[in-house]
Amino acid sequence: RSDWNRVAIVLEELRRKCDTPADELLCVLIDGMVEEMKAGLAVEGGSKDYKMILTYVDKLPSGKERGHFYALDLGGTNFRVLRVHFGGKESQMKDQEYQEVSIPAELMLGQHEELFDFIAGKLAEFVSKETDAYHPLPGRKRELGFTFSFPIKQTSIDAGTLIKWTKGFAVEGTAGKDVVQALNEAMEKRGLDMVVTALVNDTVGTLAVASLATQKQDDEVMISVILGTGTNACYVESIDAIPKWEGPKPSSGKMIISMEWGGFSSSFLPRTQYDEALDAASVNPGEQIYEKLLSGMYLGDVVRRVLLRLAEEAALFGPTVPSKLLVPFILGTPHVSAMHQDESSDLQVVGKILGNVLGIDETSLELRKLVVDICSIVAKRAARLAGAGIVGILKKIGRDGTKQDSSATQNKRTVVAMDGGLYEHYPWFRAELKAAVAELLGSEVAKNVVIELSKDGSGIGAALLAAAHSRYG
Ligand code: ADP
Ligand code: MG
Repeated sequence: RSDWNRVAIVLEELRRKCDTPADELLCVLIDGMVEEMKAGLAVEGGSKDYKMILTYVDKLPSGKERGHFYALDLGGTNFRVLRVHFGGKESQMKDQEYQEVSIPAELMLGQHEELFDFIAGKLAEFVSKETDAYHPLPGRKRELGFTFSFPIKQTSIDAGTLIKWTKGFAVEGTAGKDVVQALNEAMEKRGLDMVVTALVNDTVGTLAVASLATQKQDDEVMISVILGTGTNACYVESIDAIPKWEGPKPSSGKMIISMEWGGFSSSFLPRTQYDEALDAASVNPGEQIYEKLLSGMYLGDVVRRVLLRLAEEAALFGPTVPSKLLVPFILGTPHVSAMHQDESSDLQVVGKILGNVLGIDETSLELRKLVVDICSIVAKRAARLAGAGIVGILKKIGRDGTKQDSSATQNKRTVVAMDGGLYEHYPWFRAELKAAVAELLGSEVAKNVVIELSKDGSGIGAALLAAAHSRYG
């Protein structure tokens, strides 16, 4: 029989360790985040947590971009090839076409050349289906925005080397190599008349798309956050606040910084034994600690590990531990959100997922309620930590209401553009994140902070940035 006393103890411990009180905990984390941001902007490698990558995007698209451009989105489990046509007026998108491919697992852990050859092959396939209307003019090439959502050391808008792989990727042979050059070479090898004109990550693309949405004022769209397989944020920083910037200052006086905020770590982060075990078993132990607490790749597995402990210590699912509970990542974050948001009175969805995914049949309502509780605790911690991250950026750029001057920034609206499957498909998570931001800012200031979904920056946004940086002006 299940030992419900033991269950209660383990659950209470989880609740306590995942607790994220605003005053005692989140505020401390936020101060630490702001310090790390400053350190990372001061000198290259100044922060061990935040890379604070210079993106070489110093202004957002004007809206006058026209023509058709391609985008390649690499940075999660799927990758996509798109072609987007911009009409010139507010970059009206005329049409788009795309193809999605999942990346064979062996390529994620394979060799550098294989990965890029595979990608170039898919691009060639996409282009081969096009009608003549899309052929570039003589002497020209198709232009591609390459969304590469991993930490890179960027050296210009179309050059950068990988700093490290994340999100389950561990490809060999990438160290020190320019990813744009690698892709250009792979395309050339295939005889593909295409060239990368912008190397961006999904956060920057999201910011670009959001800034074009109608009725946005200057200096409103300042931050974008991805909550998908992994997590990252970028924001518009004043060039004068970036001591590590070398060379002439851009005329805009600004630079978009990709924080690589998934790398944040702090002894104050509310971590549990489940998080530690997950980290130890990952392909990048000790890294991306913040990301492992809050992104879609991991939430499901944290829940699985809690259930596993309850199965082992409290015979939660009977005398034997269900074998599927031992399989890493078998429970995905989409399962967590589906179970958590199960509105049926007898928690049918929870029952179905436990049965179908974990092979656990015949569950009691009490057990299904417990599972919902666990999902809620893990998701709440994630949402509030993400909210704290956003407030950290707002504080850094003086949009958190604490700036002691009467300048125009005081009552300025700040748009935070959000994207990623976790944010998009998990309404409860979204609400909890917004509530945390409001709690941290106070309701007056929170009124000026608009957190909104801005879709497909990694596709349309990248094509837009490729257009904005076109070789053929
Ligand atoms: P990527 O980050 O790989 O570019 P997405 O932005 O599409 O991709 O996000 C995919 C991630 O979103 C998945 O890893 C998954 O964890 C999460 N996700 C997808 N659907 C849901 C859902 N219904 N509820 C919660 N999370 C989801
Ligand atoms: Mg994506």
